[in-house]
Amino acid sequence: MNPIFSQVSTSVFETMSRLAREHDAVNLGQGFPDDPGPEDVRRKAAEAVVSGWNQYPPMMGIPELRQAIARHYQRFHGLTLDWENEVMVTSGATEALTDSLLALIEPGDEVILFQPMYDAYLPLVRRAGGIPRFVTLRPPHWRIEEDQLKALFNDRTRVVLLNNPLNPTATVFAREDLELLGRYMARFDAVAVCDEVWEHVLFDDVAHTPLLTLPALRDRVVKIGSAGKIFSLTGWKVGFVCAAPHLLRVIAKAHQYVTFTTPPALQAAVAYGLDKEDSYFLGTRRDFQAARDHFARGLAEVGLKVLPSKATYFLNIDLGERGEDDATFCRRLVAEARVAAIPVSAFYDREPVTSVVRFCFAKRNTTLDTAIDRIGAFM
Ligand code: PMP
Ligand code: GLN
Repeated sequence: MNPIFSQVSTSVFETMSRLAREHDAVNLGQGFPDDPGPEDVRRKAAEAVVSGWNQYPPMMGIPELRQAIARHYQRFHGLTLDWENEVMVTSGATEALTDSLLALIEPGDEVILFQPMYDAYLPLVRRAGGIPRFVTLRPPHWRIEEDQLKALFNDRTRVVLLNNPLNPTATVFAREDLELLGRYMARFDAVAVCDEVWEHVLFDDVAHTPLLTLPALRDRVVKIGSAGKIFSLTGWKVGFVCAAPHLLRVIAKAHQYVTFTTPPALQAAVAYGLDKEDSYFLGTRRDFQAARDHFARGLAEVGLKVLPSKATYFLNIDLGERGEDDATFCRRLVAEARVAAIPVSAFYDREPVTSVVRFCFAKRNTTLDTAIDRIGAFM
């Protein structure tokens, strides 16, 4: 058995969801919205299933979806993609990450990761033979310090794995930070795998710059997206990869042996959804922002210190001087207050920040109010 997987613990999302069920808790741990997703998009998927679109689609994805992805990024970011050579459909962002890391890392290559990091990253990097090197981000700003890049980049650095907007910090990297990173990538001839699944979940008019849109990085970046996040359909697992042809070609070789394809009816529905009007995308932002504001107010009223949330549907609190670490707090919170949350220390490999707790606010106000009442009584 491979020790990387036999020794890794069960994902914190699964563990907290199980505890939430056991304690009949309000589950604000694992990130999924209680909104069912746009009805027209769901209807398209149903129609496609019933009309018989159920056999293997083309390995790279159906042309309708690959073209829609290219159109979507042209519309939102002025990014010109050649859909036949630069766009591929995967079974979720998770598969896109797996394909990219398997394809781009040679055993012994150094890979730069930014902790806190999404839980799948490290085991996948290790299994691909990469040697992880960590940039550590800390609250309240979670910014990249140039000194850390200077200390980590070297001639063995091959891949940078970046998540922007960043889960769990709910922050967006500024363009200057991306340009700084880009200068190090160019100097050391590294490529970036950029997980941008949260690209549409942005608040307060904050701008998100896809790394692939920096002209100097056009041939060095693999951009990953997910329909699960864009349409609040997390169970669909339709993801996409956009990259220059020489990168995509190799990633596609990994994809053909990992899943080979993705359900065609779901692809057709996502293709339809990506062409929805701007007002749909702006409307979902507005709705999430209203939920964020409602929940932040409630948490502040029960005396908790709320950190800024500029993106994603997560809100963090800082426990400060409570004298209890995040993991202990979350274990007690789910058992005693019946509210599940995620300890942010779970997103670190070493020297974790242990005072921050993440809540998912993509829920109805009544659900958020129940959670706030219970947390208030618990405090
Ligand atoms: N990357 C990040 C940063 C995520 O937050 C998530 C899921 N929330 C994923 C990847 C996985 O996306 P998918 O469900 O499309 O595999
Ligand atoms: N991405 C979601 C989160 O961050 C959940 C993903 C999962 O359950 N693996 O909570």
